[in-house]
Amino acid sequence: MRISASEWTKYITKLSKLSSTAGDMMQKWVDDNGFDDVDALIEYAYALTTRYGEASATLSCEMYDAIAEMQGASVASAEPVEMPSYGDIAKAINGVRKQSPSGQLYGTAVARQVKQAGADTTLKNAIRDGAQFAWIPSGDTCPFCIALASRGWQYASKKALRKGHAEHIHSHCDCQYAIRFDNKMQVDGYNPDEYLQMYESADGLKPNDKINAMRRMHYAQNRDVINEQHREAYAIRNEEN
Ligand SMILES: [Zn+2]
Repeated sequence: MRISASEWTKYITKLSKLSSTAGDMMQKWVDDNGFDDVDALIEYAYALTTRYGEASATLSCEMYDAIAEMQGASVASAEPVEMPSYGDIAKAINGVRKQSPSGQLYGTAVARQVKQAGADTTLKNAIRDGAQFAWIPSGDTCPFCIALASRGWQYASKKALRKGHAEHIHSHCDCQYAIRFDNKMQVDGYNPDEYLQMYESADGLKPNDKINAMRRMHYAQNRDVINEQHREAYAIRNEEN
């Protein structure tokens, strides 16, 4: 039994669209309105995360239920997680204000909240039902995601959560949790051994050292692309000023 690569891609593309749309809308709002009116900023971020976060959670439930049905697992329908409260969003936005005085990261913060709602939904239902989960990388995967992916399929337990949330959710990355109810199911193209090999062969003994070694390698391989992206971003900023 398997989820085909095209089915998986369809799923993560939809999820990614939701978080990037919310992020783009947020950033556009900041570009149009500035970010001095903090209450208005929080209010808009809250509206976006609620609307797009719910869509992301719903989509994750649909995937969860589809896998349960495919595997004949007798579990209740997946439940979407609660959306972040106004207070949660206020905290996130205030964090961004400190971190990025230039106002470039509000969109990223909103996109991340939307992605979190989907990932939390998948993981919390997996914990409820004692299902297995794996982190399925996508595209030009960042070292952190490789480290997570190298762990392979694991039984979901509360240990997978940190402060009640799925860990390591960052924006600009289409990696996602997959779940399954027994060993018979695979996601096409996901080969944890391959990631384990990449992880094991990275320099260092501690996980953080290995991840940093992979980061350096990743940067060296993509230096030209990254420099080009930085040049473009710089040019766009200068044009706007
Ligand atoms: Zn990733």
